[in-house]
Amino acid sequence: MNTRPTDLVNRVDLARYTRVYLSPHLDDAALSCGGTIAASPDRALVITLCTAPPSETNFNAVAVEFHAEWGLAPDEVLRVRRAEDAEAMTILGVDYVYADWLDAIYRMPEAYHSRATLYRHPLSDDPLLPQVRDLLALLIAHAPQATIYVPLGVGHHVDHLAVFESAVAFPPDRLAFYEDINYALLPGAVEQRLAEIGPTLVAEYLAFGASSFQKKIAAIAAYRSQMEALFGGTVAMEAAIAAYHAMLAQERDGYAERIWRIA
Ligand SMILES: [Zn+2]
Repeated sequence: MNTRPTDLVNRVDLARYTRVYLSPHLDDAALSCGGTIAASPDRALVITLCTAPPSETNFNAVAVEFHAEWGLAPDEVLRVRRAEDAEAMTILGVDYVYADWLDAIYRMPEAYHSRATLYRHPLSDDPLLPQVRDLLALLIAHAPQATIYVPLGVGHHVDHLAVFESAVAFPPDRLAFYEDINYALLPGAVEQRLAEIGPTLVAEYLAFGASSFQKKIAAIAAYRSQMEALFGGTVAMEAAIAAYHAMLAQERDGYAERIWRIA
């Protein structure tokens, strides 16, 4: 797909999908929506946005910190993470494509150079904003059956906020906002984000059973380079994911993910 969303129309039959998930990074869709994707009777499409290898070799401080945390050399980061993602997508039984845009830490390394500057609203000249707008316009037109799932922006990662802020300009009946995991697992984080957005969002609970839950766990575990940084290991991941989705199932047995729609 490279940098032009129009390439997507030539590569993928968008009209067949009823669910299209925009995943800022290689893991967000599986982390946030993996149970629903695994349980879906229809094939869904995941479009992961920030999948391009960095073109520069001078990395800023936060990129150096992340590479060390993931245990990956800079020139293997995207290759390894894409291979992990392919495994996760296969486990979930979902179609997937990569936009091949740059992650914030490589896209605007002078602006997004620390944890404080990475977890913030996007700069007005951030190229991700028009890229996502163009992609959403294309999806609205060429995937007329589809609900488009985008991040709510819990945790305030700039790439997640760029997608959220681009999406709210589009017809609300075509959109659903998913809770960004792992940020949403922090007590109070979803409520804080909802308070920022305003009182216009309505919750919808999407239930799934044990077999879809197991697929979600296996898919997340495929992101081996991310496991330590996100959860402190696979055992802790499974416990945290199980607790969150059992809580969202409320009084019922099983599990649920929660999405939000504009009222
Ligand atoms: Zn992300």
